[in-house]
Amino acid sequence: MKLDTIFGVDYADPALHARGLYIGGEWLPGNGIPVVDPATTDVLAEVPDASMADAMRAVDAAEAAAADWRATPARQRAEVLQRWFQLMLDHSEELARLISLENGKALPDARGEVAYAAEFFRWYAEEAVRIPGEFRHAPSGANSILVDHEPIGIAVLITPWNFPAAMATRKIGPALAAGCTVILKPASETPLTAYAMARLGAEAGVPPGVVNVLTTTQPAAITNAMLADPRVRKLSFTGSTGIGRILLAEAAKTVTSCSMELGGNAPFLVFDDANLAAALDGAMVAKMRNAGEACTAANRFYVQSGLHDAFVDGLTKRMAALQIGHGTETETQVGPMITTAAVSKIDRLVSDAVAQGARLHTGGKPLPGNGYFYPPTVLDNVPHDANIAHAEIFGPIAAVYRFETEAEAIRLANDTEYGLAAYVYSGDLSRALRVGKGIESGMIAINRGLMSDPAAPFGGAKQSGLGREGGITGILEFMEPKYFAVDF
Ligand code: NAP
Repeated sequence: MKLDTIFGVDYADPALHARGLYIGGEWLPGNGIPVVDPATTDVLAEVPDASMADAMRAVDAAEAAAADWRATPARQRAEVLQRWFQLMLDHSEELARLISLENGKALPDARGEVAYAAEFFRWYAEEAVRIPGEFRHAPSGANSILVDHEPIGIAVLITPWNFPAAMATRKIGPALAAGCTVILKPASETPLTAYAMARLGAEAGVPPGVVNVLTTTQPAAITNAMLADPRVRKLSFTGSTGIGRILLAEAAKTVTSCSMELGGNAPFLVFDDANLAAALDGAMVAKMRNAGEACTAANRFYVQSGLHDAFVDGLTKRMAALQIGHGTETETQVGPMITTAAVSKIDRLVSDAVAQGARLHTGGKPLPGNGYFYPPTVLDNVPHDANIAHAEIFGPIAAVYRFETEAEAIRLANDTEYGLAAYVYSGDLSRALRVGKGIESGMIAINRGLMSDPAAPFGGAKQSGLGREGGITGILEFMEPKYFAVDF
């Protein structure tokens, strides 16, 4: 099927995606997983439900392609990624629309995601030809130390629904650049983007079996079976901390290398010396990108007493003015949540906080009608022991807390098992850096509401994950160092 017939047509037509599982360069038909438009609850398409045999077929296909792909010169691997990058740009509007349809995010967010996602292919096309090695002299003088980096082997990639394109390219890009073959299992809510990406990859010249994509209703059984197969040497997972813990235990059985990008509970600190307008602009980006369904989303706003009331007032005005609607409508700024369960979870967190004394400034109740809509909501006077202070909200809810001193702000920011992202607003850069040093987190944004960048190491401390994606280190997650002791 030509891309032109896939894009720019009616995505609600299930036949478009009935070509199914992508294994060994072939489309294996099937159905069993309905994909729902969260703005309308209409079924957009049905994708196949992979069996255990399909998963093993995918491992066989990845194995069959492995030797040739790892032997393919880095320059050629880079050129394939570069073409895939270009094809994503050529089809960016269609991809953005597809993401918006199955995920619900507003088109500007979806367009931003496509650009971000494509950039991982360009970045790793550039890194593929710069894989580092090492040469040293042993301190004893007895020999030399030569360190090579080899592709680690077949990688299983598991991705969440909140960034259907970017979470896939952030793994596929470095894996292919390193010389690994992969099996991608996208989230059941948003598989259409993954299949569309596979089509673009094939067009870019990714050889059959190098990238395989499967969807399944039994992710645990299938992942466990793949991890038990000694040919699989890598698991790269992005998703919740709860599932991450389960997968780490499973991978331990075969001592399979794991990279884990897990949940977050980002603090957003605003000091009295911050520029209020800039802090509000940053807060809107940090909170409302993807309607709050982002691992880096600001989850707890800590605002120093002097700016607290003005910040709450400004944030409330901005949140209340946002336009809610179907993600694909041009005026929409906030789309639906991913599922009805997500709406219920958010609603429970808000109701519980209000019952404990939080003040509601705007929003606060699910919207009636079809679709999983929850309005932008602002709370302040939130008790520190309310569930909303400790759970990952994953929705358009800004919970604001007051603080007095720098030490208190750092203590509150660190009062979580998570450590993915944090934001600091202050007019005093040395204070901002000092506070950033004190926060137990993999990423700190200073006077900015956005930190994601393919050129930077993305990842978390504490229970937010293991390893980093992006940057110059991301490729090493898919490589095994090999040390040669050499006597010349
Ligand atoms: P999730 O429930 O953990 O699911 C993530 C993926 O894991 C999905 O593909 C899911 O498949 C699969 N899965 C579920 N149970 C599994 C099991 N037992 N074995 C193997 N795979 C399994 O997370 P989510 O709700 O999709 O995503 C939201 C979470 O992702 C949030 O916690 C967010 O913070 C985190 N996240 C983190 C980052 C980061 O970079 N740190 C980025 C984005 C999102 P099914 O869809 O079929 O259930």
